[in-house]
Amino acid sequence: MSLYNTVYDVIVVGGGHAGSEAAAASANMGAHTLLITMNLQNIAQMSCNPAMGGIAKGQIVREIDALGGYSAIVTDKTAIQFKMLNKSKGPAMWSPRAQSDRMQFAECWRTMLEQTDNLDFYQDSVNGLIFDGDKITGVKTALGLEIKAKTVIVTAGTFLNGLIHIGEKTFGGGRAGEGASTGITEDLVAKGFEAGRMKTGTPPRVDGRSLDYSKMTEQPGDDNPEKFSYLPITKSLTKQRSCYLTYTNPEVHDLLKEGFDRSPMFNGRIKSTGPRYCPSVEDKINRFAEKERHQVFVEPEGWNTVEIYVNGFSTSLPEDIQDKAIRSIPGFEKVKFFRYGYAIEYDYFPPTQLKHNLETKLIENLFFAGQINGTTGYEEAAAQGLMAGVNAALKTQNKDPFILKRSEAYIGVLIDDLITKGTEEPYRMFTSRAEYRTLLRQDNADIRLTEKSYKIGLAKQNRLDRVLQKKNKTNSLIKFIEELSIKKEEVNPILERKNSASINQSMKLVKIASRPQIELSDLLSIEKLNSFITENEIDSEIIEQVEIHLKYSGYIEKEKANADKLNRLESVPIPSNFDYTKVKSLSFEAREKLSKIQPTSISQASRISGVSPSDISVLLVYMGR
Ligand code: FAD
Repeated sequence: MSLYNTVYDVIVVGGGHAGSEAAAASANMGAHTLLITMNLQNIAQMSCNPAMGGIAKGQIVREIDALGGYSAIVTDKTAIQFKMLNKSKGPAMWSPRAQSDRMQFAECWRTMLEQTDNLDFYQDSVNGLIFDGDKITGVKTALGLEIKAKTVIVTAGTFLNGLIHIGEKTFGGGRAGEGASTGITEDLVAKGFEAGRMKTGTPPRVDGRSLDYSKMTEQPGDDNPEKFSYLPITKSLTKQRSCYLTYTNPEVHDLLKEGFDRSPMFNGRIKSTGPRYCPSVEDKINRFAEKERHQVFVEPEGWNTVEIYVNGFSTSLPEDIQDKAIRSIPGFEKVKFFRYGYAIEYDYFPPTQLKHNLETKLIENLFFAGQINGTTGYEEAAAQGLMAGVNAALKTQNKDPFILKRSEAYIGVLIDDLITKGTEEPYRMFTSRAEYRTLLRQDNADIRLTEKSYKIGLAKQNRLDRVLQKKNKTNSLIKFIEELSIKKEEVNPILERKNSASINQSMKLVKIASRPQIELSDLLSIEKLNSFITENEIDSEIIEQVEIHLKYSGYIEKEKANADKLNRLESVPIPSNFDYTKVKSLSFEAREKLSKIQPTSISQASRISGVSPSDISVLLVYMGR
């Protein structure tokens, strides 16, 4: 079967983080999938920093793994450093982050995709979409091919009409060294889609041999690094590469300011909005003029390269200014540049034009995922890609969409935020965006999601078996601790050591283990507990689950109750294409917003900005509740 006479179930346009996860997911769901991307050497290329995870993003990578996606496995296999961030805070805040070897990351992704059944590859640029009325039926490419498909997922990242800026220079491109993509935006706008512009930027890359690390502070990885994937097929790192920390100073800021009149950010040439939480260095010194210094993290790009990513120094100032200013940073006096920083502007499609399954409202069988939806970050892109891949495959199988609730996953929060609230600046995930973050922890993504994914045919049996075993062992250890009565002689020496009040008579172990000063690991010298753990082959992952249960079950139960309340509202559906103009007692703003977003449930309606609690009461009465 050639490209000319195959009707694919799913065509994925773009092999970035979203496209790669989309292609893997739809192919693993049994859909005959074609991945078309401009350059097959650059599969899942990390356009910016060579790192995965971090606060809230690490939880997303864990969720992708729990669902059967590849990002976590690729990260583990190519990591050069691992850190669990926020370990001093409660477990809802623990966030895994890994630095990866940039070149190995892309290579590993490609290998994993090549080993995936049902997946074909084709290198070309898609420059048009083929429609039959309000349905998509295929794509057109720059080489003139027309390839047919039942569903199409567009994951074009920063490439749609991409425009690169460095100082006063401007040129078309999707990222450094790669051409922009034209045609898709134009076809979609002609079909009635609203498009917008956003911008992002990246720092210079430099030669690590030209840096003086003695003037910086070493930032090593964790002493006992963990890993992202729940599967035992990846291992924790046994050796790691360190990052280094240095700072800008007033001299650096003054030198940067010399280029402000030639900066595309300040002379009006870049009009679009950039990521608020990943600002350029010129933005930082402009907005926070009172700050005398900003952090600069010096991050290696891999095991076998001297290239360094200068994290915190994202800039689109002219090359001569970048060159001059960076030399005043301690350790950078003799720096040699590999690449200058730059900014890029690109088209995105306001995501309120999507349904919860990431299919567009205007065109049936057309899905969007990743930066095209106004997000920023590999993790956000990969998560959407996976969900779009799953849902496109389900659509071809005439099955119900797979939608995660806000109380089930950060991925649910991400998609619901995007399609309900939209975004006018690049959207990144934060723990604060999730109202149920005590439930959505990085340690329990598998318990939350793997069974769901198995049911729709994505997660495989080995994943499910592992999760069921984790659940069983956790429950049996909790039961054992709840039932075991402990003598004072057995436990008082431990309590004394931990400055915790001793006991006068036998007591259930659970009472001791729940004390805030006591960790389960402190109690392992109690013989019966120790034997139970050994006999049942209970590992540190289970002990951590039990510890979290003992210390936080009160909060967890409270959040679950709140989530249940919300989910009851979620189950009050609003018919599709509901005519809000009929409901005169709604406020004007609510009528306008509800008509535009067309929420599918009362709960979703309540999250739209401008829809007040009294509007919700009106709707509930209208729906007969
Ligand atoms: P991309 O990774 O951009 O992948 C898109 C893919 O689609 C590419 O492989 C491309 O070749 C392919 N493609 C595009 N159009 C077509 C077409 N018509 N036909 C065929 N193939 C096509 N994120 C952050 O979190 N923080 C940052 O500070 C940050 N800075 C960035 C700076 C720059 C300069 C760039 C370029 C990106 C930056 N990002 C940053 C964003 C991050 O790279 C993206 O969020 C992430 O890569 C998005 O993934 P994606 O899959 O949506 O798109």
